[in-house]
This record gives sequence, C-alpha cells and structure tokens, in this order.
Amino acid sequence: MNLRDKLASYLKEEFIIQEEKSSDEKFIKLEELKKKTLECKKCELYKTATNLVFSDGDYNSELVFVGEAPGEDEDLQGKPFVGRAGKLLTATIEEFGLLRQKVYICNILKHRPPGNRNPEPEEVAVCSPFLLEQLEIIKPKLIVTLGNFSTKFLLDTKEGISKLRGIVRKSPYGYDILPTYHPAAVLRNMGLITDFKEDIKKAISYISGER
Ligand code: URA
Repeated sequence: MNLRDKLASYLKEEFIIQEEKSSDEKFIKLEELKKKTLECKKCELYKTATNLVFSDGDYNSELVFVGEAPGEDEDLQGKPFVGRAGKLLTATIEEFGLLRQKVYICNILKHRPPGNRNPEPEEVAVCSPFLLEQLEIIKPKLIVTLGNFSTKFLLDTKEGISKLRGIVRKSPYGYDILPTYHPAAVLRNMGLITDFKEDIKKAISYISGER
C-alpha cells in the first residue's frame, strides 16, 4: 500500500471509530455531563484549576476506580491519576493482568484543590452529584474507592479506610464497593502495599466472575 492509500485507510478507520463513538449513548451522555461539570461554578475550585479532570479509561468497563481530587500533575494534564500515586495504581492494575485503558478512573472532585489540600465538605457536596451521574451512566459491576474521601462518600459512613478495606460492601447508592487505601497513602507508608495489591487483585477477580 502506498502512503496515500495508507492515509486514506487510516482516515476511514478513524471516521468509523468516531461514528461508532458518537452513536454510543453512554459516550454522548458522558460528554454532556462533562460539559455541565466544566460550566459548574458552585464552588471556587474552577478559578484556580488549570484543567477539568473528568475521567480516564474505558466507559464501558465493569470496573471503576474513584479517587479524591486531582493533584498537580492531573491538573496540568487534565487526566486523573497520572502522577506518582497514579503510576503506582496503574502498575498494580497492570500487574494483575488488566490494562489501565480497560478500566474507568475518576475522582469525587473534578478540579484540583489548591496546594493539594483535602476537599472541603461543601466541595464534596456540590461536586459529588456529578460523580453519581457519571456512575449512573457507566453502571459498573464494582467500584474500588481509593482512600477515605471516596469510601466515606460512597458508603455513606464515618468509618475509616483501614476498617473497611478489602471487603466488597453495598453502597446506599446501589453499587458494590471495594474500598482500599489511596495509592498516595501507600507511597507514604509502604507497609500498606501488600493489602493494596491484594485488594486490586480481588477487584479484578471480582469482575472476572471469580469471587
Ligand atoms: N489523587 C487522587 O485522589 N486523584 C487523582 O487523580 C490523583 C491523585
């Protein structure tokens, strides 16, 4: 095939992929939601953030990871979990046989809190409805909550992560939740790595039907 034919064939494939995507109802709903999130001014975080960090990965995945809020790297790249903690998360998912692109990753907050401070309760209150809409569109079989913020929110509990991790629990929102440590906490305390890996392995087995 000469270069011109190769280019034509590539463009045709791209066109087909784009057509399939745009006719995909989930894709359209998520794009609409992303637009709403981008326009949201219910808290101040949009003023200091560089980018909206909506999601990464496959919206058809049965496995969703929910973190806390974007950090500096995520804010700059507009993608969740791409910094040091994200690299640990990605490596662990891939260690157990799934590609990062095959899972869906998002956060409770869609904009970075300045200086990586913890999310304020009011920020969680105004941003979490977007997360719930996102999950409602995706309908995952299992959600892995990373750390205290997403665990407490999705399980509607005040119990800490070390008590809750490692067991699949029912969320009042109807989802199966497997809480685990936040990968940033694992980086600060490598003593947590064994439990963290065990939980990610369990999540991958769970969606493969091995419970
Ligand atoms: N920590 C989070 O909770 N989310 C990210 O996207 C990155 C770091």
